[in-house]
Amino acid sequence: MNIIAIFKGLATTFGYMFRRKATIDYPFVKRAHASRFHGLHELRRYEDGMERCIGCELCQIACPANAITVIGAENTPEDRHSPGERYAFRYEIDELRCIFCGMCEEACPTDAITLTPRFEMANYTRNSLIYDKSKLLVPAEYGVGEAPHERPGGLPADLGEVARIKSTMEPERGYLATWRGIDILTSEGKTYMPTPAGGELVREPEKLKGGE
Ligand code: SF4
Ligand code: SF4
Repeated sequence: MNIIAIFKGLATTFGYMFRRKATIDYPFVKRAHASRFHGLHELRRYEDGMERCIGCELCQIACPANAITVIGAENTPEDRHSPGERYAFRYEIDELRCIFCGMCEEACPTDAITLTPRFEMANYTRNSLIYDKSKLLVPAEYGVGEAPHERPGGLPADLGEVARIKSTMEPERGYLATWRGIDILTSEGKTYMPTPAGGELVREPEKLKGGE
């Protein structure tokens, strides 16, 4: 038995024991991402609950990966979904085709389609990664920004707000900027309260469990 080799091996083990770990406790700890990181999509609403999407199909035309399908339909006084003449009757993004380039977001005249800073999208089937309106559209209570009914030119009051949603490098803050983010963080044992303050889209943490 080579005793020297055993001690050399143990010295290597003990040497690494006290160094800073290269690994993190994912998913409970998430690494900071780049600012303006492009993650999963959301379709936004106005604060009155109206859908921002007007079914114009510009995002579909701009998409270099042919990942978006929009089929517009006419709003009627009895069945109004958006402030415009049209709304997206069908809206789908194939997240497997998507290259997260952000062209759809750039093309959108109403800041409806947004790439959020959320990055966890793994699933077991291809179909589950085709996001339709049921997965993309935020609930009515998470709508933000004044609808353009009364505004000159019919432009949303907060056009350009999307950049602010994404200009964070903190994963938790990025998650809180999306409506499903709270559920995900809560499932990781953390408690948050959605409190958009002063027009901020980011929902501030109320308290954190687990000694954070
Ligand atoms: S991020 Fe780019 S590839 Fe993905 S849906 Fe939008 S335009 Fe298409
Ligand atoms: S998301 Fe924007 S660009 Fe795409 S159809 Fe709706 S309004 Fe038009």
